[in-house]
Amino acid sequence: ENESPSNFIRDIIDEDNRTGKWGGRVATRFPPEPNGYLHIGHAKSICLNFGLAKDYQGTCNLRFDDTNPSKEEVEYVDSIIEDVRWLVEDKDFPVLYASDYFEQMYQYAVQLIQQGQAFVCELTAEEIREYRGTLTEPGKESPYRNRTVEENLDLFERMRKGEFPDGSHTLRAKIDMASPNINLRDPVIYRILHQSHHRTGDAWCIYPMYDFAHCIEDSLEKITHSVCTLEFEDHRPLYDWFLEKLGIFHTQQIEFARLNINRTVMSKRKLLRLVKEGLVDGWNDPRMPTISGLRRRGYRPEAMRKFAEVIGVSKNNSTVDVALLEHIVRDDLNEVAPRVMAVLEPLRVVIENYPEGQTETFELADFPGDETRTSKRAIPFSRVVYIERSDFEENPPNKFFRLAPGREVRLMGAYYITCKDVVKNAQGEVVELICTYDPESRGGQTPDGRKVKGTIHWVSEQHALTAELRMYDYLFSKDNPDDVEEGKDFTANINPDSLQVVSGCKLEPSLAEAKVGENFQFVRQGYFCVDLKDSKPGAMVFNRTVSLRDTWSK
Ligand code: ATP
Ligand code: MG
Ligand code: MG
Repeated sequence: ENESPSNFIRDIIDEDNRTGKWGGRVATRFPPEPNGYLHIGHAKSICLNFGLAKDYQGTCNLRFDDTNPSKEEVEYVDSIIEDVRWLVEDKDFPVLYASDYFEQMYQYAVQLIQQGQAFVCELTAEEIREYRGTLTEPGKESPYRNRTVEENLDLFERMRKGEFPDGSHTLRAKIDMASPNINLRDPVIYRILHQSHHRTGDAWCIYPMYDFAHCIEDSLEKITHSVCTLEFEDHRPLYDWFLEKLGIFHTQQIEFARLNINRTVMSKRKLLRLVKEGLVDGWNDPRMPTISGLRRRGYRPEAMRKFAEVIGVSKNNSTVDVALLEHIVRDDLNEVAPRVMAVLEPLRVVIENYPEGQTETFELADFPGDETRTSKRAIPFSRVVYIERSDFEENPPNKFFRLAPGREVRLMGAYYITCKDVVKNAQGEVVELICTYDPESRGGQTPDGRKVKGTIHWVSEQHALTAELRMYDYLFSKDNPDDVEEGKDFTANINPDSLQVVSGCKLEPSLAEAKVGENFQFVRQGYFCVDLKDSKPGAMVFNRTVSLRDTWSK
């Protein structure tokens, strides 16, 4: 029943279930900070956490880790909910906010003070850093470390009341300034920040630090397995220290390797720069590695979940080749995207022996060659059609099996045509072909069974839709965008040709009904979808999700 491949986290859960550690319960969470849009790295974490909940009949909370008002915004909250809903299978998950626990967190901080395990410090941020020591040198104790409990309670309360300016006081855990783990050298757990919060407004002017807040959030939600990325491995002793000293539900933190992909950047700080500096068309630019960008590009949630499954989870950081992601997306679309005809660079073909004014209809299979799927669509045919300019050669090289003077090809699903004449403009460019058709070849074969090597796609001129196609390449021209000369940053590696707009494309008329969220294979060209932002009836815009050519090799 549980078909997902095993991994070290599943092994831990299986063992916990065997020993009855959590009474058979599995409760996970995905805890984004609402300071940007989610990217495909987050998708890995989402698929992992929601996937565990699904496979073990557990629960997964979407919890906003909204404890830092300076970078957080409602726009991000909304986008994150939308992205997670889109990505996961079970869309009915709890949406929770760390800021709802601020009072409880405050009370836990008071408890630590009462237990003699936290103190109000008046060192500046700079001094705290100096006192902290290094990997090889122990830290120095703060002169405020030995205040009485009463004094600490009073000062902490006054911090809350807003009596002190930003940066003047902090609340720190009293642990061990000589600990080999720097995270345990009296870490700051509260700081003063006179700033409005997007949910709590001005109710607070002190905010908890990540390490203190996160374990409490997990504990209050009775999370069993708190999965996070490897950078937090060194923070686990602190995570455990807080929960143990507070004597509350003790979630287990488990770390895994974060996802890195070449040809892109994944830190929210860098993505924000691309957006703010107008280097892309917003967070959901189809070249962005954001979930909203990949959705606009035409990726399906099924493909993203498959990708997460294929890359798996491990304890070793590595970089995944973007070609693998594209390979999976291509495979996924191959299964679901109906085939349609679209001519990117149209060349006009007049079929001189086809009656003027006559129209007929061909039924073409949406999935040719797949007998299990019989859906079809009607395609009108008439005397003038467009073919792809690259499907004609005036002086064809050897092995060119498409159209050339005197040659015969099959118009996909329609008739055989033979090129009789070439019309050129004053500059000598081919602007039109004069052809004849064989009425006996209707549907794509002839009674005499003669062989025609080339089959090309086409669109009837009088029925064609005109559309703009956007062809995307990688946003960065180096595998590692951070590989730059001194004094430059990742934006120096932006690929100037990452977007190529092809306008005046001719599409079969069935695509007039195409909706945002539908995927199509434009035969011989690639997979495309309607752009959710710029496409309009009569002026449609399609994004190329991925080409047909697979560059992935194991
Ligand atoms: P960024 O570094 O992009 O700002 P973050 O870790 O600061 O990301 P959060 O909003 O805190 O962003 O992340 C929410 C969750 O997503 C965390 O549990 C984090 O571990 C996970 N996550 C973030 N980036 C990745 C990644 N590249 N691969 C896997 N998980 C990730
Ligand atoms: Mg974070
Ligand atoms: Mg970050």
